[in-house]
Amino acid sequence: MSPSHRKPNTLLTHLGREPKKQHGAVNPPVYHASTILFEDVESLRAAKEIRMRPDAVTYGRMGTPTTMALQDSVAALEGGYAGIAVSSGLAAVTASIMSFVQAGDHVLMTDSVYGPARAFCDSTLAKFGVETTYYDPLIGSDIASLIRENTKIVFTESPGSQTFEVQDIPAIAEAAHAAGAAVLMDNTWGTPLYCKSFELGVDVSIHAGTKYIVGHSDAMLGIIVTSQAFYEKVRRGVMSLGHSAAPDDVFLGLRGFRTLSVRLEQHHKNGVALATWLQQRPEVARVMHPALPDDPGHELWKRDFSGACGLFGLVLHPVAQSAVDQMLNHLELYGMGYSWGGFESLIVPTDPRSIRTATDWNAQGPSLRIHAGLEDIDDLIADLEAGFERLNRAVAAE
Ligand SMILES: *Cc1c(COP(=O)(O)O)cnc(C)c1O
Repeated sequence: MSPSHRKPNTLLTHLGREPKKQHGAVNPPVYHASTILFEDVESLRAAKEIRMRPDAVTYGRMGTPTTMALQDSVAALEGGYAGIAVSSGLAAVTASIMSFVQAGDHVLMTDSVYGPARAFCDSTLAKFGVETTYYDPLIGSDIASLIRENTKIVFTESPGSQTFEVQDIPAIAEAAHAAGAAVLMDNTWGTPLYCKSFELGVDVSIHAGTKYIVGHSDAMLGIIVTSQAFYEKVRRGVMSLGHSAAPDDVFLGLRGFRTLSVRLEQHHKNGVALATWLQQRPEVARVMHPALPDDPGHELWKRDFSGACGLFGLVLHPVAQSAVDQMLNHLELYGMGYSWGGFESLIVPTDPRSIRTATDWNAQGPSLRIHAGLEDIDDLIADLEAGFERLNRAVAAE
């Protein structure tokens, strides 16, 4: 199918499927393969020449037709050239960065980045002689003043998955490109459906497929989508590091992909409804959700995103941590666990201060992160309401 003139919901339904080639079965089969056999010695030799093509099946690690169905689908939906599936979102982050840098290079990294990505820069990159400078996520075109001659990439994550600042990606991309640096974006929050990162000037878009693409909290997956200009560079980087994605997990990614739009619509609705309700609560100092009209990032979000996922944050008024613990313990519908993007609601305490160096996190009270799942909104609100009652009882008992 030629994706260019189709609308997103049609693409989600039809990309990456060729029933005629597979006995009429609607979905591509799961190829379990390491060895790929060649017809003759000539095609065996040719495998080396063709292996950079996104559709080349040459060895299990480089992917099978199952992998390619997912890679092509995500890339086409987002508007990139091609996709590369790896075993986790973090592998997608680190392999993308590694593809661009060598000893002596410099990386600009948003201060709002996913914690383990920061840890990678501070440990592995530093160990190999690559310097990282963290920058204010709201820097916009002033990023130009931080770009050095040896700056190879500007890494963005918008909105930040703990503090939810929306970055001005087009302004950052313009400044980066003028100085010869590539722009990488962790687009997990926006998904390939709600944020068309390549239209914003991004060169490499990174997805923790583990989150909404898999969508059911039951597999780990990373997907890197690149522009044509950078495909070979990143493909070679991923290949040299030995990354791969397991066939059954890729299949779960493809299965999740089909319903991305209907699920996200409900995550969006529930997330905004919860965030709006929380804004009215006396215990809440601030809600961090770019789809709220009074959020500082709202205008940029409206310009660059066509929807919101279910993940957002909030800051409580100063209160003893033990009272917050009373609220969190005994919640019936919100699971407590890292990750997000599954069908179910989650809540975790966050500590933004511990993962920032370029900017201050000056909130006074404790902060929380909520993932609004697909449950009924009345039940989700009632459960939080009971939680606030426990919090208030604990405060009163002090
Ligand atoms: C979860 C997450 C990742 C890492 O994904 P894994 O599949 O858990 O390795 C990367 N970036 C963001 C923004 C995430 O939330």
